[in-house]
Amino acid sequence: MSAAAAPPDAPHPATNPAPSDPWLALLAALPAHDAEATPVALAEQLIAHAIARWAEPPATERVPLAYALGRVLAEPVVSPIDVPAHDNSAMDGYALRGADLIAGQALTLRVVGTVLAGQPFGGAVMAGECVRIMTGAVLPAGLDTVVPQELCGADAQGVHIPAGAVRPGDNRRRRGEDLATGSTALPAGRVLRASDLGLIASLGLAEVRLRRRLRVAYFSTGDELRAPGQPLDAGCIYDSNRYSLLGALLRLGVEPIDLGLVRDDPVALETTLRLACEQADVVLTSGGVSGGDADYTRALIQRLGHAAYLKLAMRPGRPFAVGRLQQGRKSAWLFALPGNPVASLVAFYLLVRPALLQLAGATATPLPRIRARSTQVLRKRPGRTECQRGRLSRADDGHWQVTLTGAQGSGMLSSMSEADGLLLLEADQATVQVGDWVDVLPFEALA
Ligand code: AMP
Ligand code: MG
Repeated sequence: MSAAAAPPDAPHPATNPAPSDPWLALLAALPAHDAEATPVALAEQLIAHAIARWAEPPATERVPLAYALGRVLAEPVVSPIDVPAHDNSAMDGYALRGADLIAGQALTLRVVGTVLAGQPFGGAVMAGECVRIMTGAVLPAGLDTVVPQELCGADAQGVHIPAGAVRPGDNRRRRGEDLATGSTALPAGRVLRASDLGLIASLGLAEVRLRRRLRVAYFSTGDELRAPGQPLDAGCIYDSNRYSLLGALLRLGVEPIDLGLVRDDPVALETTLRLACEQADVVLTSGGVSGGDADYTRALIQRLGHAAYLKLAMRPGRPFAVGRLQQGRKSAWLFALPGNPVASLVAFYLLVRPALLQLAGATATPLPRIRARSTQVLRKRPGRTECQRGRLSRADDGHWQVTLTGAQGSGMLSSMSEADGLLLLEADQATVQVGDWVDVLPFEALA
């Protein structure tokens, strides 16, 4: 999926927006398309545009660095110091004046001291002299070059440096070469990674200003669902979506709020939606968005707020709704996913995941894709996005290849768990032949 661009502002003449419904107005601003099959890329644009228009980024808070992993920076991190703070040695060896080196000639220098990391050298070093120095130790005044110890010989006369062993300035780390005072170490909107925590620590900062974690209330709907740990009544199935979605939410660094299982009952659904809207920034539902169910949930949501019900040109995961709920002065975003376990997770990854990152105040970074050759024919008609589940392996020539993980039914979670990633066939793709290149979104990046 490409990064979502804002749709053109002018309504498309082929459609007829009802300005009273803000989603219809936004939909009308998208390029003309078949309402029975909204392209995934357009749905993505619609959501990104709505968030840009209506959402406020979460409030900010100062957080100890140890708790900042995976969180969103609210402001740039600006370096208050030079890193490193001094010129220092990149090697264990001998520090000397570059000016003492004579091209093509060996050199013997008298060793006048030893400098250790964290223990600066107090004395002066004259021409023809050097110091023994350890990695990270501050270079004494006037010394600018380090000869690695393995290149030197040392005896009572001093250190012997062979001709051509180093050039002036070698093996020196310059003050501020990593970051200079006042430079931006990390931009606002960054989702902090392990190395970022280290970088911030290297600046001496013990706290960072972050966006408050996005609160996402989620629940499953369906009379047939039973919670794991409970007996399975006749004709029932276990609720798996609440767990796969919980996992995906935790990996995104948001704060999940589990509102449990809700029966297919308008009163129970309304009560839960109101509660969710009061407690959370985002409400995530699964099930009850397709077929006959959709009718009463749609009526209900129209009373509690407004939403766009989409039929996506996508497999699996055709029914999908995005909207806004309102409870007094409190509002929340709504994403309604299909009930089928694979469909709900795929729709989450393709449409909700980027939306949650945007709502969290994070800067979008494109997901890495692995190009792999298909080991089989994948029948497909152009016109809709298809997400199959695939296992990656290395072909004899070293390139990646991908093979489907068994039956691909939209309810079969085993096909997901056996897979290394989503084999993403874009809308315009036709049947894939053996050996054709396809894109795989690795779960390691997604989940
Ligand atoms: P629905 O979208 O409610 O019509 O559900 C479509 C299919 O997904 C049905 O077979 C449901 O039983 C199943 N389903 C819905 N929600 C869940 C869930 N939370 N866990 C597992 N399966 C579900
Ligand atoms: Mg249902």
